[in-house]
Amino acid sequence: MRLLKFIGWALTHPIDFLKALFLPGWAHNVTILLVMQHADNRMRFRIGRSLFTLFRTGMVADEEPGYEINAQVKGSHEVTREFAKRTNGVALGSIGENLLGMPTTAHILGGAPIGKNADEGLVDESFAVHNYEGLYIIDGSIMPANPGVNPSLTITALAEYAMSKVQSKK
Ligand SMILES: Cc1cc2nc3c(=O)[nH]c(=O)nc-3n(C[C@H](O)[C@H](O)[C@H](O)COP(=O)(O)OP(=O)(O)OC[C@H]3O[C@@H](n4cnc5c(N)ncnc54)[C@H](O)[C@@H]3O)c2cc1C
Repeated sequence: MRLLKFIGWALTHPIDFLKALFLPGWAHNVTILLVMQHADNRMRFRIGRSLFTLFRTGMVADEEPGYEINAQVKGSHEVTREFAKRTNGVALGSIGENLLGMPTTAHILGGAPIGKNADEGLVDESFAVHNYEGLYIIDGSIMPANPGVNPSLTITALAEYAMSKVQSKK
């Protein structure tokens, strides 16, 4: 349905369509609105084959039942349309999310939960792996929740916190 609507729009607004996709100096003339959310969404990763790995062995993402990810963030389309109206622009979304309903992220976080012991989590509160002395996990996988914003500074702060807990050699 969305795809048909898009084709209909492209046919009835050919200049806007061509300008939005093939305008010279595209990077200078385009504003990208990145919309994030706090929702506790999840996906699973496994080594396998899919259309996206061209059926070769690679990393494949699956939905986790009960935590399905919505391809559209509430309010984002309204904000984008309003922004386009005020800047005399053309509102467009990503092909994967908006036309194919496939959610995307550049912020893959979690997977190594923090817990008091090996039954409750993989690492302790200093990010040392339970029962493996001297082994630490210090990256985005120990993020306990979705911050809803760009995560790299939080990951860096957590890494600094972990290092502050390591005893210096005498
Ligand atoms: C396109 C894109 C744009 C982004 N934009 C932003 C942004 O604007 N702001 C922001 O805050 N965040 C942004 N992020 C997210 C941010 O980059 C990540 O959340 C962050 O880098 C994750 O840090 P990390 O240390 O967990 O993993 P990474 O930074 O991915 O580090 C993992 C490292 O491990 C190495 N590695 C992997 N496998 C092995 C192996 N077997 N042996 C040895 N080394 C290995 C990799 O080469 C890599 O250097 C963006 C991400 C993407 C993909």
